[in-house]
Amino acid sequence: MTERDRVPPHSHCVVCGAAIPEGERFCSEKCRREYERRRRRVVLTQWALAGGLIALGVVLMLRGV
Ligand SMILES: [Zn+2]
Repeated sequence: MTERDRVPPHSHCVVCGAAIPEGERFCSEKCRREYERRRRRVVLTQWALAGGLIALGVVLMLRGV
C-alpha cells in the first residue's frame, strides 16, 4: 500500500506544488503567469543553444572537416 493508493486522484501545481484537482496544472492565475514567464526564458535558452550548435556546425563545415 503506497501513498498513491490512499490519496484520491489529484495533481500538483507545476509552479508551487500545491494539491489541485486532477487535470489542472496551476493552483492560481498567479502561478500560471509565473509558469509562462519561466517557460519563455527556457525557450529563449533553447534557441540560444540551438543557434550556437548550428553556428558551430557551419564553422566546422566551412573548415572542411
Ligand atoms: Zn501554485
